[in-house]
Amino acid sequence: MAGYTPMILQYLAIKEEAKDAFLFFRLGDFYEMFFEDAIQASRELEITLTGREGGAEQKIPMCGVPYHSAENYISRLVDKGYKVAICEQVEDPAAAKGVVRREIVRIITPGTVMESKSLEGKANNFIAAAVRVGGMIGLSACDLSTGELYVTSFPEQIEALIDEINVYQPSEVVGDGELLNRVQMTAAWNKQLLLTPREPMAADKLTEQYGEAELSKLSGARLQAVSVLTGYLDETQKRSLGHVRSIAAYEPNQYMILDHYTRRNLELTETVRDRSKKGSLLWLLDRTQTSMGGRMLRRWIDKPLLSRAAVEARLDAVEVLYRNLILRDDIRAELQPIYDLERLVGRVAFGNANGRDLNALRSSIRRIPNLTALCQQSGSRVLQELVEDADQCADLADLIETVLVDEPPVTIREGGLIRAGYDDYLDQLREASTNGKKWLAELERQEREATGIKNLKIGYNRIFGYYLEVSKGNLANLPEGRYERKQTLANAERFVTPELKEKERLILEAEDKMVDLEYERFIELRDHLALHLHRLQKAAAIIAELDVYQSLATVSAERRFARPRVTEEYDLRIEDGKHPVVEAMMDGTPFISNGTELRKDEQWMLLITGPNMAGKSTYMRQVALICIMAQIGCFVPAKAAVVPLIDRIFTRIGAADDLIGGQSTFMVEMKDIQVMTEKATANSLVIIDELGRGTSTGEGMAIAQAVIEYVHHHIGCKALVSTHFHELAHLEESLPSLTNARMAVEESGDNVTFLRKLIAGAASTSYGIYCAQLAGLPESIIGRAYELLDDTVEQASVQTGQKAASSSKASFEEAYAAAPSVFVEPKAHADKLIEQQAIVQLSIFDEPAAAKEAEPARRKASPKAEQLAEGLRKLDLFNLTPMQAMQWLNDMKSKLND
Ligand code: ATP
Repeated sequence: MAGYTPMILQYLAIKEEAKDAFLFFRLGDFYEMFFEDAIQASRELEITLTGREGGAEQKIPMCGVPYHSAENYISRLVDKGYKVAICEQVEDPAAAKGVVRREIVRIITPGTVMESKSLEGKANNFIAAAVRVGGMIGLSACDLSTGELYVTSFPEQIEALIDEINVYQPSEVVGDGELLNRVQMTAAWNKQLLLTPREPMAADKLTEQYGEAELSKLSGARLQAVSVLTGYLDETQKRSLGHVRSIAAYEPNQYMILDHYTRRNLELTETVRDRSKKGSLLWLLDRTQTSMGGRMLRRWIDKPLLSRAAVEARLDAVEVLYRNLILRDDIRAELQPIYDLERLVGRVAFGNANGRDLNALRSSIRRIPNLTALCQQSGSRVLQELVEDADQCADLADLIETVLVDEPPVTIREGGLIRAGYDDYLDQLREASTNGKKWLAELERQEREATGIKNLKIGYNRIFGYYLEVSKGNLANLPEGRYERKQTLANAERFVTPELKEKERLILEAEDKMVDLEYERFIELRDHLALHLHRLQKAAAIIAELDVYQSLATVSAERRFARPRVTEEYDLRIEDGKHPVVEAMMDGTPFISNGTELRKDEQWMLLITGPNMAGKSTYMRQVALICIMAQIGCFVPAKAAVVPLIDRIFTRIGAADDLIGGQSTFMVEMKDIQVMTEKATANSLVIIDELGRGTSTGEGMAIAQAVIEYVHHHIGCKALVSTHFHELAHLEESLPSLTNARMAVEESGDNVTFLRKLIAGAASTSYGIYCAQLAGLPESIIGRAYELLDDTVEQASVQTGQKAASSSKASFEEAYAAAPSVFVEPKAHADKLIEQQAIVQLSIFDEPAAAKEAEPARRKASPKAEQLAEGLRKLDLFNLTPMQAMQWLNDMKSKLND
């Protein structure tokens, strides 16, 4: 340390307070970084790394960003998951003795950003805290930009914690270090998660923040979770947080539990493929007009309800708006111009709201009376109660209107904010300044007249103030005496006179005072509003809720969804259900509806077999989505639906390799199944797509059967299981509550048409080879595969003494005859369906030429094909993973192309 300059010593001392953050050290008009910070920041921000003498032998690495554009750089670092500590000069450099005093004024972290650049309008940005107290885990989550704060607790179990953290998708988690480590190691997180160990804050400071009444609702793990979170906010934000005052405590079992994979698989808020909102349930349901409504809708989708009364209340409100298009449109029109009140309130509390923000607040508040009236006239009890006693906040809007001009500038430090007539003294100063300017114009005229210099003019610059400018050619006409030379330019000279100096003093003084006074009045206004934040927050919550109702009603009406009957019983019944998102994404092709009936006294497990690409996954997801939609209070894509309250949905869909977590496809699958066996209750819904596929056929099938039996005997919950193991169809005989179902297919000649219709009975083929052929695999492989399939089928029939069904035998007619179940269409309808679908569906399957060409390939193959076929013959299918099989096919394809 010895040898460093005092300023570098100061830097090092401050850096100690923010070791895990980039320290933006204010030096004049720049924020500078030194040492390691500089090296890393120059890399991350792609800015030049330089060096600075600092008293030591070697130069100190340094880089910097201009003060005015710092926000951009800060948000880039924070977006990358870093923290940035802002260190400002806290005394006037002119008055400082020695090094100017500097302090960290705020630490910006991914979970605490307030700047709109880094925030997505329709998504919350949560920071969470997780702690352990006496066998319980406490979890709190706060969105600093809106002031929401939630807290819950549950018995210590890491999976439960991960599920709960997933509800919030926080960008940062603080708390118990060991717990955070386990969280990090156990789950693969969607986004980069910044974890910071922290301890609870001092009790008196906590009371200061929330008040005793609010805190008395909490104890144990919940209290500690709030304490740790608030402590961290206090440590990083270094200011009072007036908008974070109320704490929403809840029990985890108030909401349907959805684990991470289920949320992902069902594509609730983002798609699996590219994690975009488009294509998710949220995307479909989001017709909200305000950001607050958008965020609330997302939270509703993240937390489907478990209280029938609460669901019914939401459905009632949606129904009224569903039925009344004019009311819905009026409400939408009133909501549309409303700004993000919650975040505006956050900015007011945080002290960074400008004049435009306050005007946005004002114009938004002005919509409340109309919205209230619309709700009161709606005829809906729920909407009436929503706005009952709603605070119109008119006094606040009036005040803003009285104080602020209609179009204030972005900055609050340069005047131009306060409306004329609001402050007498300010008006007087303005008068002085305007009069002063008039006087200058008059002076200019007089001087021109007196000197005869026509182009003499009065100007102003920051360094010399007001001056009289005379061009070089006219200098001779200037009388001696009164004119004092100030500045020489190439073509002109600038002068001042005693009168000009005197007026300048008055004008500048007035302007200075005006700017200061305007700032003062503005801050007064903002501080006054800060005393009423809770009123604005309540109004914002009402607006958000109304917005979600109209959004759900708009989508439901446009897409002709039906109101579900939500029950506390067991049976699930869906008539003509559809996958809402797949249907919405289809262009022109009709989506084929399918029914579902899972009943306690009959069947409550479906074992679905059928071809690849037939629509099994779509069907199973649609059932889960219908349950979720019903439980958030939305109408559902069906002709009619009776939906029991589902406490938990488990899905095991497709291959979800957790490569980052270091787990194989099969291991991930088995872990999911393990959680399901442990957590599912009779009121859960289990969806398993392709069980046991990631291991050898024999073992996979054995596990699949054992799992199905377990769900049937020990859990008793509604379950949909799809499989390519047709051999499992026999389970229908031994498990009374399980029924076979399959996706209907129609074959005619070489064509296969997928009817997308779920019918009773098991399928006998997956049409896998047919699919492979359509995907463009070489004919020799296809031919050989059919040959092998025939051999296998023959062998199987010799062994079992039965005649195995060949792929071409499973006609729709046959299937229909054997399908007297709830999910079959009446025959006449089905015939019509075949007719329609043969024309419109999956044109890729209508390739008779390709199919026919496969025929000779079965009989006679070329030498190259023979070589490939030999490879296929030797392939040990039972010991291949799907990935290896894909790789093999790919190699074969390249060989053929060679
Ligand atoms: P695999 O066994 O190969 O995974 P799958 O049987 O699960 O196939 P899906 O992925 O559900 O098949 O469906 C394949 C495609 O068929 C979907 O992407 C969708 O475009 C279409 N589809 C599915 N169901 C329907 C339906 N009911 N109506 C119309 N099109 C549908």
